[in-house]
Amino acid sequence: MVAYKSKVVERIHLPSRERRERALEEAGYNVFELAAEEVFVDLLTDSGTGAMSDEQWAALLRGDESYAGSRSFDELESAVQDVMGFSRVVPTHQGRGAENVLYGALLSEGDVALNNTHFDTTRAHVANQGADPVDCPVDRAHDLTVDGSFKGNFSLDRAWSIVDEVGAERVPVVISTITNNSAAGQPVSVENTRRVREFADEIGATFVIDACRFAENAAFVRDREAEFSDSTAAEIAREQLGYADALVMSGKKDGLVNAGGFVATDNETLFERCKQRAILYEGFPTYGGMSGRDVAAMAVGLREAVEEAYVTDRLEQVRTFAELLEDAGVPIYTPPGGHAVYLDAASALPHVPPAEFPGQALVCALYREGGVRGVELGSFAFPDTDRPELVRLAIPRRTYHREHLEHVVETATTVLENQEAVSGLEVISEPENRELRHFTASLEPISH
Ligand SMILES: *Cc1c(COP(=O)(O)O)cnc(C)c1O
Repeated sequence: MVAYKSKVVERIHLPSRERRERALEEAGYNVFELAAEEVFVDLLTDSGTGAMSDEQWAALLRGDESYAGSRSFDELESAVQDVMGFSRVVPTHQGRGAENVLYGALLSEGDVALNNTHFDTTRAHVANQGADPVDCPVDRAHDLTVDGSFKGNFSLDRAWSIVDEVGAERVPVVISTITNNSAAGQPVSVENTRRVREFADEIGATFVIDACRFAENAAFVRDREAEFSDSTAAEIAREQLGYADALVMSGKKDGLVNAGGFVATDNETLFERCKQRAILYEGFPTYGGMSGRDVAAMAVGLREAVEEAYVTDRLEQVRTFAELLEDAGVPIYTPPGGHAVYLDAASALPHVPPAEFPGQALVCALYREGGVRGVELGSFAFPDTDRPELVRLAIPRRTYHREHLEHVVETATTVLENQEAVSGLEVISEPENRELRHFTASLEPISH
């Protein structure tokens, strides 16, 4: 059931078809290069793109900008305590700041970090410490159509086989990412989280939860894990997060703000080490690279994220969007995850071979047809891997209405009806670091 009405609105418009075609060409067929004003419905990411509540805007005005001892920090600390159950908080400018602070305190050269799936910035920060990021997803995580309640789970079998290979002493950190962003936003069960806790204890590792979408994950648990069918999302979040030694959090996701993040822990030694690193990289530990007002807004956002009305509405919107697409015959990853619907570009455009980037071709076609911006997460974004050819349509929180999503469904349907008009692409120029090429590379359509 819809849980909001609008109090502030922002004008959007659909540029003419000619304008869209020109904008696409000028952007080098890379939608990261489009001006946001040229986009009608922007599903590029759910990170920091949501709408804040009136309570958050009110908190913003009351933010305390004191360098040290800010009251806004006290508010954040008590929100983290109440919602997530941890007593010590180190605020950072966003999630990757928290990763730098925490993983720098836990990892050294030659270590191995295990994760159900490392998100891009997590992988980069683990590698930046000289450590080796190894993924342990369950087999069905990258199967686009197999049913499953918790396709985001951490595979203990894989984890044990890595430990048998490298030795437990080389694995000081085990991470569970909830929901599993890089596995289509699939949830992780509490039962799986308990088993990861036991595994970490057996090998003597620190157990970290990447809690970016902890509230969405808790709502999935409520709906799908029998033990918790009578629990609230708030109760489940505390139970699940409680198994970890430390959390990394991006406020731009379930903190319901546009910027911010933090590390949380109950471990005093770890807290001290993180605090020292935070002073070096982020700022004094009562603001950590955020303004006081942003800290205040995040404190409110964390509490709102576990309200039943919010989180139920959130998952319902994503599920409805997925159903509308499926009903229209658009191939998608099923079941849908918490923050986005993923289109199966290989099935949608079977005439475009992998070498010509079917995902990116679909992204461009969606913009050309309806001013819709999504993002490719296939062979263009991840060269030299064999990921499925996915296009992610991420839903910003509390931002778009059903009409916007119906427009996207209509756009996708029209693109598929005229699929022979969609041609493959070739890369014209790309940055030195190929791993980041989807942000800045330019492409051109291939004419056969
Ligand atoms: C977004 C994200 C991060 C990084 O957070 P930023 O705020 O973008 O720096 C880390 N882990 C996961 C799972 C994420 O989704």
